[in-house]
Amino acid sequence: MDICEVYLFIINNIFRTEFLWCWYTLVYKDRYGRPLEALRLIVTQRCNYTCTFCHREGDLYNGRSELKLKHYEVLARGARGVGVVEYKLTGGEPLLRNDIAEIIRILVKYSAKVSLTTNGSLLKQKAAELADSGLHHINVSLHSLRKDKFKEITGGDLSSVLEGVETALSYGLKTKINTVILKENLDEIDDIIEYASNKGIDVNLIQLMPVFYYERDPVRRVELYRKLNGDVWLIEEGLRKKASRIELRQPHNRTVYVMPSGIEVTVIKGYSNPFACITCTRMRITHDGLIKTCLYRENPVVDLRECLEKEDEVCVQRRLLEALMLREPGFKLPYQLSFTSQSPGLSRREGSQMGE
Ligand code: SAM
Repeated sequence: MDICEVYLFIINNIFRTEFLWCWYTLVYKDRYGRPLEALRLIVTQRCNYTCTFCHREGDLYNGRSELKLKHYEVLARGARGVGVVEYKLTGGEPLLRNDIAEIIRILVKYSAKVSLTTNGSLLKQKAAELADSGLHHINVSLHSLRKDKFKEITGGDLSSVLEGVETALSYGLKTKINTVILKENLDEIDDIIEYASNKGIDVNLIQLMPVFYYERDPVRRVELYRKLNGDVWLIEEGLRKKASRIELRQPHNRTVYVMPSGIEVTVIKGYSNPFACITCTRMRITHDGLIKTCLYRENPVVDLRECLEKEDEVCVQRRLLEALMLREPGFKLPYQLSFTSQSPGLSRREGSQMGE
């Protein structure tokens, strides 16, 4: 055992209490003073939708199988030991996993909050077991309220998603709407807010992130971005006029517009908001057990798989801390879109590893 393992052993076995996470967040910080509090788990790469803009959570690593239940148990036990208190399940489409409720139950045992993002297509069938699993809330992606447009954007069927939302609400499952701001749905944002207001549910309006890993050519990526991206500033201008209150919330410095109906509309500018990274406290775990330090960079990743296979909690902690030390704020993909004007332009990063 080296000194780091002795330290982790003492923290894990002698001082372990539910209150210790605040101690962990004081002690374990990256080089920019940010602790690790949240993990975004890509529980599968499989998806039944084909969203035109999808970033796939940056999980493009192939060749290994999905993590199993026993792996999530080891991960959650280890991660608690370095301060993780929150999980978001995503994908791919997380509801395609038959054991999704069991994964949630495991994570709930070791954390304060577990939530899940879904395209909603299977929500009607799964809402009951999700409501029973201890899940804190779900985010349902809804990019259009028009059947044809919805099909064009996602390849999916709108009515099954709307039925899914109804069923989730009927089981008392706290539900939020996620809408990515696209050129194609700019004229529908008000309708989506009205739909959510009628149901009393909050909305996240998400700025399109230029993270299209499936398109390797950086010039094509920028073309794609220009083609798809809706003007977030235009939307915010409208929201400012309609909101009864506006707040700035952490983490990620997000602006929240409280509407007269009482629902909250949060604008998530993960890309153009220069302060979004300052309070970021999360990393991602890919479907097969890699720690991805940030969506905005392809590398480095740190491999957890071996620790999970060996069911070695301390090994999990060491790797999480190793990844934490590699974190850097800012957009680190090898192309950058300038937001000095409202029509972004390209500036290539030198020495890039991607896009060749
Ligand atoms: N299949 C699920 C779904 O559709 O919600 C979960 C996976 S999806 C990658 C997670 C969230 O990321 C969704 O709300 C989706 O709309 C959002 N998203 C995907 N690609 C994006 C992009 N390029 N920019 C901004 N948000 C994106």
